[in-house]
Amino acid sequence: RTLGYAVVGLGGYGLGRIVPEFANCAHSRLTGLVSGDRAKAERVAAEHGVPTRNIYDYANFDSIADNPNIDIVYVCLPNSMHAEYTIRAAKAGKHVMCEKPMAISSAECEAMIAACKAADRKLMIGYRCHFEATNLEAMRRARAGEIGTPRYFRSEHGFVQGDPTKWRLKKALAGGGSLMDIGIYALNAARYMTGEEPIAVYAHEQTDRSDPRFHEVEDMIEFQLEFPSGVIGSCMSMYSANQSHILLMGDKGRIELEPATGYSGHRLWVGRGRETEITPPPGPGKTQWAGQLDHLVQCIVEDREPIVSGTEGLRDLRIIEAIYRSAKERARVGLA
Ligand code: NAD
Repeated sequence: RTLGYAVVGLGGYGLGRIVPEFANCAHSRLTGLVSGDRAKAERVAAEHGVPTRNIYDYANFDSIADNPNIDIVYVCLPNSMHAEYTIRAAKAGKHVMCEKPMAISSAECEAMIAACKAADRKLMIGYRCHFEATNLEAMRRARAGEIGTPRYFRSEHGFVQGDPTKWRLKKALAGGGSLMDIGIYALNAARYMTGEEPIAVYAHEQTDRSDPRFHEVEDMIEFQLEFPSGVIGSCMSMYSANQSHILLMGDKGRIELEPATGYSGHRLWVGRGRETEITPPPGPGKTQWAGQLDHLVQCIVEDREPIVSGTEGLRDLRIIEAIYRSAKERARVGLA
């Protein structure tokens, strides 16, 4: 069985990454588009066989409720718009895939979860690494005890910013800086690699506020995570260097990924250093995006919770809020 998706926001990710991925899916089809740019939406619709009657804009979006060919709304908008469009989609009776970060506050995440629950719709967050073969193999080997007892986790994630006028560098639209955008990969990986939830954070921010890119949002933020088992996580998030690295160190060896969470080219080593490179078995879909898109369809059809549901997005946002608070107060912040 296949279900139809409408992609909201035809920008770099929605149009550049998600729209072409329906061709790789087994259970998902592109059946709708939501954009403020009608001409662009018509071009994309023609190219991907989407009927023009299934094109919406931000004003008439709610009438998507009357369209039986659209089952799921995929929110690919700036972060501050995730909550509004998720809630509107749920009220229109649609299931929701929402990009990371889930929203710009934990309160918004809670409202999104409540709206989807009230409408009896599924909510999933676009954490594509949970469907990426190399990351899945790294998780499997960590859980299987191949490196013994985990002792520490490290991850650096960065993405160099250019144009200071972009929404990513505007606090109101992005909700924050590098941590909201790329640092969340380090945080999410700390949780999926250890299989634990942090109990406290300690963070330190370093931003050159005279740099026009960083008038409103942070550049570098370094954070430590304390886990119940005693594992320490140490993460770096930045907007002034490109990096994608994960390391889990155990008492019998290490699991290392680099690049760890990008679109392609992932590499994985397991052992004492980088002597043994691992080729992972195939992931659940043809690509990480196909696996992600089809997972939500299968969860809807089989009535089960997505492995990266709204609860998973909310957990990250609660920790992100604690990280920002810790950096501001220069103090350890406990997580309930
Ligand atoms: P983008 O700037 O390329 O696209 C944003 C889209 O939103 C554009 O089509 C723009 O026209 C539209 N938009 C509507 N209202 C807007 C407003 N007020 N201001 C700015 N744009 C507005 O951004 P993107 O890179 O596509 O990011 C969109 C979302 O996808 C973000 O939440 C981002 O974190 C997420 N993302 C996820 C990944 C991933 O790998 N999972 C990668 C990139 C982006």
